[in-house]
Amino acid sequence: MPNSKISSPGNNEILLAGQRVCDLLNQVAGVESLDAMLNLLGTQIHELGVADAYLINLVDAGGKNLITQKLRLTPEFQMLEQTTLGYRNSLSDGYLNAKVFNLRSIQHVNHENASDAEKLVLKYWRVNEFVGVPILNPDNPQEAPLGVVMLLKQVGSIANEALEPLQKVLALLFKSLHNWMRFAQLEKMHDKAQAAVAENARLLEFLDEMSSLTSIDKVYDLFAAELFRQLPFELASFALQENDMLAIKKVIAADPRYAGLTHELRAYLDHHPAPLDPSYSGGVYVLLKDESVLFPDVQTIKHLPVSPHDAKSIAILRTPRTLFIAPIRYQKRPIGVLALYSLAKPISLSEADRRLLEQLSSFLGTAIANSKTYAISQAQNVEIGHLNMMLQEKVKQLAEQASTDRLTGLFNFRSFEQELGKRVKECQRFSEKKELSLALVDIDRFKQFNDSYGHAAGNDILAGVAQEIRTQIRETDIAFRYGGEEFVVILPKCDIDGAMLLAERIRTAVEARVFDTSAGSKSVTVSVGCTMVLPNDTQQSFFNRADEALYKAKNTGRNRVCTG
Ligand code: GH3
Ligand code: MG
Ligand code: MG
Repeated sequence: MPNSKISSPGNNEILLAGQRVCDLLNQVAGVESLDAMLNLLGTQIHELGVADAYLINLVDAGGKNLITQKLRLTPEFQMLEQTTLGYRNSLSDGYLNAKVFNLRSIQHVNHENASDAEKLVLKYWRVNEFVGVPILNPDNPQEAPLGVVMLLKQVGSIANEALEPLQKVLALLFKSLHNWMRFAQLEKMHDKAQAAVAENARLLEFLDEMSSLTSIDKVYDLFAAELFRQLPFELASFALQENDMLAIKKVIAADPRYAGLTHELRAYLDHHPAPLDPSYSGGVYVLLKDESVLFPDVQTIKHLPVSPHDAKSIAILRTPRTLFIAPIRYQKRPIGVLALYSLAKPISLSEADRRLLEQLSSFLGTAIANSKTYAISQAQNVEIGHLNMMLQEKVKQLAEQASTDRLTGLFNFRSFEQELGKRVKECQRFSEKKELSLALVDIDRFKQFNDSYGHAAGNDILAGVAQEIRTQIRETDIAFRYGGEEFVVILPKCDIDGAMLLAERIRTAVEARVFDTSAGSKSVTVSVGCTMVLPNDTQQSFFNRADEALYKAKNTGRNRVCTG
């Protein structure tokens, strides 16, 4: 500590009293930031009372500027304090701050010695004098100062002797100020490093998002968006090798104003997939060489020979500037090509940028491959789903087309409809074939049977009754299971008497039968409705009459045959 001077006798009034030095050093010990340090210095300057206003300007990390870090202006300018904070004074502009800093000595500028330019400044700030005091290392005054304390005096001047207490304060505070400045700079660097870490984390997040994407289109979009965010390229095109061609997959612009170019380029490349000949295009060259290429400014090499394919692409893009083409790799092998263009102006890519791009485009390959696999399995799933549906539909159709009923072995309802339609039409066409009858057979109180003995036993009855019907009918008659427990027999060449005879045979046979069922030996009865076709009958009117006859049989006590 340079305290020998402080305690030297003779300066009893203006130099700092020992007690004040102690107080000040105590305060310095309690400081915990550069700002607190500057507050302390500001208070000291204020208390010394030599100036009407002051600015504390500290040298920046690069040593090229003085930055205003603390200030106290005259009352009429106090509203400008906030604006002036952080003001940058270049150390090479030749003005007072620079002069004080570079000469490492106190400098005065007042109305007596000011240049015209300086006079304007004095006038603007409404002061008579500016005095700059360098913040010097007391142990080595030749070392670059930490900064400059600028003092403003509204009336009169500040004598150099009056500045000695300030110099003492500055000397006392020097080491601590120096340390706090270093600390603040380190803190700034730390903040920057943290921002870089955050940026990296974002990149990781991006990569993670990319690898989970399941649509190739989204992979391209997200990749281009991230790229445009990091580097000032304006156009990205993605091409993949397909068979023996390099085929364009997507062209994306950073800005909607390039939409026209994007479409034009896409249309051209769509119609001109590149054969795998390195002389055909830069893209193919990159793919085959598996190496990225950078053209810092396409405009400067336009006179050099290019392939007609590339010439056309360049013509479409009007004035492409920087062009970077990198292989898209999957499992370390090139599978396609990424081309990036700047259109407005050339851009400079650092080695780190190139490395980042190459890494990203390798990763792109994995993301593309992932989403392709996903797309294939998705398509397969869709196809399987589709086939399943078709299969189900076919099964349904087949079931419908099947003409027999599984339980009874009789023809089913569907066949009945077809057969009846055919027979009724025949009768109408050939008058001699008019004789056609129907017998509609329905098991009596079958619901009750099911409820008492169970569905399985019911099924055994259905099969038994069907068998009985089959036994009783003629060879030319056709029996159907019409519905649940309803049967119908078509009786060709049979009049109503014949029909009734047959119906009665069926009724008595069923009545007499003891069916072997899962619930033991059981008997049931049936009711039958018979009818014969009439000249103007339709299929429907014919059947309805049989149904009405059956209804009659049910209503008149069941286990009987009625005609209609
Ligand atoms: P009705 O004497 O008036 O004909 O009385 P019902 O109980 O026979 O007539 P309803 O139409 O009320 O009931 C028919 C019953 O036939 C209802 C159902 O349980 C039974 N059924 C229909 N299809 C089947 C089948 O495939 N198997 C079995 N076990 N029962 C059937
Ligand atoms: Mg019924
Ligand atoms: Mg019934």
